[in-house]
Amino acid sequence: MAIGLASLLLLPAGRASAQVDTRWAQHSMERPQPAVVDPGPYVRDDGRPADAVALFDGHDLSAWRGQDGGPAPWVVKDGYFEVKPGSGMIHTAQGFGDVQLHIEWSAPAPPTGEGQERGNSGVFLQGRYEVQVLDSYHNPTYADGAAGAVFGQYPPLVNPARPPGQWNVYDIVFRRPRFDAAGKVTSPARITVFFNGVLVQDDVPLTGPTAYQHRPPYEVTPPTLPLALQDHGYPVRFRNVWIRELSKEGR
Ligand code: MG
Repeated sequence: MAIGLASLLLLPAGRASAQVDTRWAQHSMERPQPAVVDPGPYVRDDGRPADAVALFDGHDLSAWRGQDGGPAPWVVKDGYFEVKPGSGMIHTAQGFGDVQLHIEWSAPAPPTGEGQERGNSGVFLQGRYEVQVLDSYHNPTYADGAAGAVFGQYPPLVNPARPPGQWNVYDIVFRRPRFDAAGKVTSPARITVFFNGVLVQDDVPLTGPTAYQHRPPYEVTPPTLPLALQDHGYPVRFRNVWIRELSKEGR
């Protein structure tokens, strides 16, 4: 990838690769698949740090809202909640800026479909920047749409997905975009993701909101916005969701 010297000089040492790679078209199937890494067994841990906000502690979806702003219509079962296909995305009642997010998810078993049509959901930071949730166990798809991808922008560095029906863990650090008074981006959104304890996104700068078959530009957004989860038509499960605010926006 040709990177201008001027832009290289702006990057901290060791960070020269942290740009959207233009050697492949968005969603290219020619792009190499992320290497499979066995992350080891899931170790259940229902705990959370004392300063974390519990978004789901196994009991109810009171921290979440449906698309109409009413109660979240997804299904709560034995210590987890599940996408109710066709009911739409859910989002947190509270808005967040810079955060550390812990969220566990499990794709439907037995699996059905293939590619993007297999256990698809998504974690949308500020409702617009998606860390892809997908059954990526023995399920090739375009690399920038695999589990742990920043959808349409950055494939995961590796693929540490567990089989469908088992629990996966995302630990995400998100830095919101900053804008100047004229609406110009002074600092893009940045995302770091650990997937089952394995680094898959290393502080990558986003081009703007994530989207299918295009990369829309930034729009000026408020400092805090709700976290959202995607209904992509599959009963993906979530559990043990907590978030830590890294900056107290506007407070
Ligand atoms: Mg998705």
